[in-house]
Amino acid sequence: AVQPPSVGAAPNGAQWRFGIPRVLNMYSTAPFFRTYLEVLGVRPKNIVFSDPSSEEMFAEGGKYGSVDPCYPSKVAQAHFHQLFFHKHVKTPLDVIFFPILTTGPSFVTDAIDYTSCPIVAGTPDVMKAAFTKEQDYFATRGITYMAPAFSFTEPTLLRRAMFEAFRDELGITEDESDFAVTEGLGALERFDEELQAKGKAILDQVEYDNKIAILVVGRPYHLDPGLHHNIPDEFQVLGYPILSIRSIPKDEEWLRRFYKEGEDVLSIGDVWPENYSANSAQKVWAVKFAARHPNVAILDLSSFKCGHDAPTYGIIDSIVSSSGLPSVSLHDIDANKPGGSIKIRVKTYAHSLKLRQEHLEDVASRRDQLERRIDEKRLELLQMKQAQLAQHRRADLQLERQINELVEKVKNYRTEAVENPEEGLSEAVSKSLIRLGRKNKDGNIVRV
Ligand code: SF4
Repeated sequence: AVQPPSVGAAPNGAQWRFGIPRVLNMYSTAPFFRTYLEVLGVRPKNIVFSDPSSEEMFAEGGKYGSVDPCYPSKVAQAHFHQLFFHKHVKTPLDVIFFPILTTGPSFVTDAIDYTSCPIVAGTPDVMKAAFTKEQDYFATRGITYMAPAFSFTEPTLLRRAMFEAFRDELGITEDESDFAVTEGLGALERFDEELQAKGKAILDQVEYDNKIAILVVGRPYHLDPGLHHNIPDEFQVLGYPILSIRSIPKDEEWLRRFYKEGEDVLSIGDVWPENYSANSAQKVWAVKFAARHPNVAILDLSSFKCGHDAPTYGIIDSIVSSSGLPSVSLHDIDANKPGGSIKIRVKTYAHSLKLRQEHLEDVASRRDQLERRIDEKRLELLQMKQAQLAQHRRADLQLERQINELVEKVKNYRTEAVENPEEGLSEAVSKSLIRLGRKNKDGNIVRV
């Protein structure tokens, strides 16, 4: 077995090579662990993640399990297989690190707890059993298996547990470990901020263009292409930008306009008061948000045999049906990609999204036309008032300023209409507007 370094974090830590399976809650916490190790001297090239899941990977390495849980946990064995039989063979690993996360990071406020699914928390131990029962794959390769337990909701405990886990392996002091934890949490926060900035840019753009973005409502690991079977990509090639729950801005100032005065913008207490599971609560929050944003539709993904998603189905259904939120659900995704049925679902949903998009464009066009007509009418009335004042040899400076501003605005409308004739008043819009008129003495109507 590999001997742990005896003294000095940086020089010894730098020599260690960590293998990390790219599965489950690593999708929500990897920047934290990666930064922690790097700060303590482990070289970036010595932190090796398994590849994203794929059918080939599972076909080759999915043969160690004795139980048959959901695919996101079952696929972990194929990642271990890849670490043992590919990554380790290429350049030897010293450690395989797969922490047990009892609670996960979450932005949802007002929850009873932020627990991980027991399958998520238990998989590191299941992997240990699977790879030591018949033969010890770790010992025979000189690899140390580290699966310490951490809680992300108790920072003091997290610091303590990180120090306990790595003190001997990396030869570090508690101060050094605490510093690395702070840096790790900072990296996680910055990562979230970067994603949210990108998400905000997409949302602003679709709102401006009257288009639709698709929010993938799933667990963090459903972003693994081997788990979502490239379904989001199918929509992306049709022109619908894809958002993850993590990429939705969480700052209150930005979210406020979608919520009632005084409402907690990050709470789901109104629809699910007794929520306790971090990732389930985030799914419900995402659907609540989408129901409030006219330019967002959802793609609801759930894995076959997922017990933790079951309580969310009814809640999500009632939000969707009461709000008219466009939604498609794929609740039984598993190891195999049912290509034919996915294609049909994508086509059908894309058609209804197209209709929704046309509706948004129509509403925006009506609103613009209405604004334009109101401005034109206002200008006309103000000019009449100005003319009346002039008859009495009076002038109003504020009135003149308003008229000048409106003249400029109306001129711009006309220029736009000439440049974009297709954006002019459509027949349907024209019919739905009331045009004012005045009857002359001869009975003819003169539009005003
Ligand atoms: S939440 Fe569902 S999909 Fe995820 S590990 Fe638990 S049972 Fe599996």
